[in-house]
Amino acid sequence: MTACAPQAWDQRMTERLEARRAQSVYRQRHTLSSAQGREVIYQGQPYLNFASNDYLGLAADPRLMEAQRLAVKQWGVGAGSAHLVCGHQSPHEALEDALATLTGRPAALLFSTGYMANLGVIQALTQRGDEVIQDRLNHASLLDGAQLSGARLKRYQHQDIASLSQHLSAPCKGLKLVVSDGVFSMDGDCADIPALASQCQAHQALLMIDDAHGLGVLGPRGGGLCQDYGLDTVPILVGTLGKALGTAGAFVAGSHALIDYLTNFARTAIYTTAQPPAVAATTLKAIELVQQEPERRQHLRQLIQYFREGAQALALPLLNSQTPIQPLALSSSAQALDWQAQLAQAGLWVGAIRPPTVPSPRLRITLTAAHQISDIDRLINALAQCLNKQCSNRQSEIEESV
Ligand code: PMP
Repeated sequence: MTACAPQAWDQRMTERLEARRAQSVYRQRHTLSSAQGREVIYQGQPYLNFASNDYLGLAADPRLMEAQRLAVKQWGVGAGSAHLVCGHQSPHEALEDALATLTGRPAALLFSTGYMANLGVIQALTQRGDEVIQDRLNHASLLDGAQLSGARLKRYQHQDIASLSQHLSAPCKGLKLVVSDGVFSMDGDCADIPALASQCQAHQALLMIDDAHGLGVLGPRGGGLCQDYGLDTVPILVGTLGKALGTAGAFVAGSHALIDYLTNFARTAIYTTAQPPAVAATTLKAIELVQQEPERRQHLRQLIQYFREGAQALALPLLNSQTPIQPLALSSSAQALDWQAQLAQAGLWVGAIRPPTVPSPRLRITLTAAHQISDIDRLINALAQCLNKQCSNRQSEIEESV
């Protein structure tokens, strides 16, 4: 006999899932039978991968795989407990130091995921009576962190400094924390961090930047968007390790006082098992590669430029992004799924991101340093086919209606 939920619960779940299907926003996983990389295998077929956040092509780099093999031999496969109990080992300590150096901050604290870092930091710093003021398009974990904290969540229009300034000028009986993605995860544009920093300074607010998508990719040493701006003064910087660095986990970088505070108050760091030490050791090696191989970032910049030129020539609906995240705005979720399916037919793997993840549907194309120019040609050709099909469908609709 299979266990099932009581009827009322079953009915609720069924109805909510049906509504998702009806709106073309039902979510589904696909099991890949290969490592991450330029190409992935699904149901025995190879696909060029334009969907991952492995921006530097490090997730299956043979040198990192070897580093992890050796680290597992030395450190085993698990940390055994939370950092504060007995799970904090030499690779974790060395990684925190390396992340602090990479981002130009005095100190850093590891978290098991970026989601947990964002929940933990906002929950630890703010309380009832405070305000957490966020860009409307911030990552879900930042919004959830504010909900969890008991502080009031206020959202300003995307990248709209005047709208932020209005919120900052309004009276508040507590403290104000301003939070923004660095590189916006679904749009690919970059926050104007100097403007955010000066607003915060003018209004005595604290600034937190989540640079999950800028770390490793931007900045002369791969230190992220703040480094790109030449700013190392943003007081709270979150970075994740599962994107350009190719592994898993996250960190917060800032002053020693901040890190000491979070060690004591960030519940998502305190009450959870530490990242496996072998993953920390592998990430240390990844940081070495990021710094020793600036040509990866250089190549990625060329690919971005090349893709944008090709897409502009076709008048594809590009967003204003100069980062590896190159979304195409589509008119409906159904169209996003349709284009995704056509690209899959052509052997290309691209994410169709739809509400409620984003306000408007899009194909989220991501480029990585593992791609070659000829891969971008294939992508552009396949997108041109999608456009052609759309035009001929429209034409026949017009003919039918006259
Ligand atoms: N912040 C941003 C901006 C993200 O895009 C993501 C993940 N997509 C996260 C945080 C969460 O990071 P992680 O995957 O390590 O939980």
